[in-house]
Amino acid sequence: MSSPTPSWYHEQHDYSGSSIGFRVRARLHAEQTPFQSIEIYDTTDWGRLMVIDGCMMVTTRDNFLYHEMMSHPALFTHPRAKRVAIIGGGDCGTLREVLKHEEVESVVQVEIDERVTRLAEQYFPELCEANGDPRAQLLFTDGIRWMAECAAESLDVVIVDSTDPIGPAEGLFNEAFYRSCWRALRHGGILVQQSESPLAHLPLLKNIRKAMKAAGFHALRTLTFPQPCYPTGWWSATLARKGADLADFRERGAAAKPFPTRYYNAETHRAALALPEFLREALAD
Ligand code: SAM
Repeated sequence: MSSPTPSWYHEQHDYSGSSIGFRVRARLHAEQTPFQSIEIYDTTDWGRLMVIDGCMMVTTRDNFLYHEMMSHPALFTHPRAKRVAIIGGGDCGTLREVLKHEEVESVVQVEIDERVTRLAEQYFPELCEANGDPRAQLLFTDGIRWMAECAAESLDVVIVDSTDPIGPAEGLFNEAFYRSCWRALRHGGILVQQSESPLAHLPLLKNIRKAMKAAGFHALRTLTFPQPCYPTGWWSATLARKGADLADFRERGAAAKPFPTRYYNAETHRAALALPEFLREALAD
């Protein structure tokens, strides 16, 4: 299963004529779960790499970019998020970031595939270091059904940290799911969806925003940030707010945050809100 000579692992994107690759020393693990295939590689320069259904999910070296930008912008926009749900997110990196916020009283992570979390515990223990926090609850079930059955107006923030919209994650990107999120959020609550690459997946990003609006969310902001292990290396998260606008965030709170981050700060938050010209035009609704 493992090879002693380094070779290259590439994720090839035919639709964009590009690929992302890492030099790997060995494949440490491979399995087919009832939901998807999961592989773990040891890379020469990026630490461990998790791949699901041939798509890169996480490397040790660059996951902080994505996990911090999926969590802190929403939590520094909401005035006081007490109850948070993460849909997907089985590597637990987003959970760890959310739990850095003292105002958060409970976080439920709803991951369909328990094997993702068990392998993260083994190969990415640093991402799982907050899993024992008494505020955290780990559920292993379908996030679409869980959200449809979630009590109305019971959540302050919902973070959809999902795989691409194929397989079990397909139903996490449509109007019906966003309607469930709308129902489950309290007034002023915020939905965050990983919304793929602005360069390679613009039609999908537009569809996500359209579906969020159709579900009742009128205030939307798409934030962009670098993410080397994902297609094109440039990624986005779209925030949608129930019944309030998204013009501002708690900039002073972000500047004085009482916990360490590696990418997120008040300046990177503000910068991420600035849309490049082509996106401003493409996302004008
Ligand atoms: N950051 C990653 C990315 O954008 O490529 C995603 C990381 S996380 C590992 C994605 C997780 O979503 C996977 O572990 C997958 O099992 C989970 N997932 C997919 N569909 C789901 C569903 N319907 N309910 C709950 N979790 C789901």
